Amino acid sequence: MPELPEVEVTRRGIEPHLVGRTIVGVTVRDSRLRWPIPDSVRLLAGQVVRQVSRRGKYLLLDCGEGHLILHLGMSGSLRVVAAGTPPGKHDHFDLEVGKKLLRLRDPRRFGAVLWTTQAPEEHPLIRHLGIEPLSPALDGARLHALTRGHRAAIKQFLMDGRRVVGVGNIYASESLFLAAIHPRTRAGRLSVQRSANLAKSVKTTLRTAIRAGGSSLRDFVGSDGAQGYFQRRAWVYDREGKECRRCGAFIRRIVQGQRATYFCPGCQR
Ligand SMILES: [Zn+2]
Repeated sequence: MPELPEVEVTRRGIEPHLVGRTIVGVTVRDSRLRWPIPDSVRLLAGQVVRQVSRRGKYLLLDCGEGHLILHLGMSGSLRVVAAGTPPGKHDHFDLEVGKKLLRLRDPRRFGAVLWTTQAPEEHPLIRHLGIEPLSPALDGARLHALTRGHRAAIKQFLMDGRRVVGVGNIYASESLFLAAIHPRTRAGRLSVQRSANLAKSVKTTLRTAIRAGGSSLRDFVGSDGAQGYFQRRAWVYDREGKECRRCGAFIRRIVQGQRATYFCPGCQR
């Protein structure tokens, strides 16, 4: 499933091909995504893309008269291909921009292509999203304040998109390792100092993944995206029974909220 770093790498990959360009055509081959692609997306023809931004895992194309909202769902990827490139079976949506196509491939069709003329931050899918983890607003003091009164384990708090958006399972495990915090620690019990360490670790983990994905940016045109690039470098994720790269203890796997958590019993207390 594309996580926040993949979405940010996608944003950076498609941005230079779109900003300042006029949309000359819209093709919907199959509108049955997570929600039906609305007919109104055809109105995009003739509009100029002003900005490509991201909120959580939603990509927002500012087209002046409104925003196209894109989500990659479970299996989606966006690629930039030459106009006229024949579509594959799962290529459901194209935006024709100049001599190129922004093409959505989504085999499982859990992705989304939506259009809104309201402020995107007020859209029902976006309004309730938690704080953006890479934003300077998420510092130790803010994370400490956000966690007060929460009895949930910090791992589950981090993965709750209404609190902090876009920290998926891999990144939550890795961030807690870097901050030396046991994943079962109650969120509300974190000190100011440990909150600061964790806020910093979340940013470091996500930025590392974005940088790793960034090496595939130059191949973005015509590539299949940048999925799966992070696991090779993981400290704990998917390393059960292997030695911790810091202390040599064996990495453990537990289940929290039906999701696997990996941690080092030596480093994380
Ligand atoms: Zn360790």
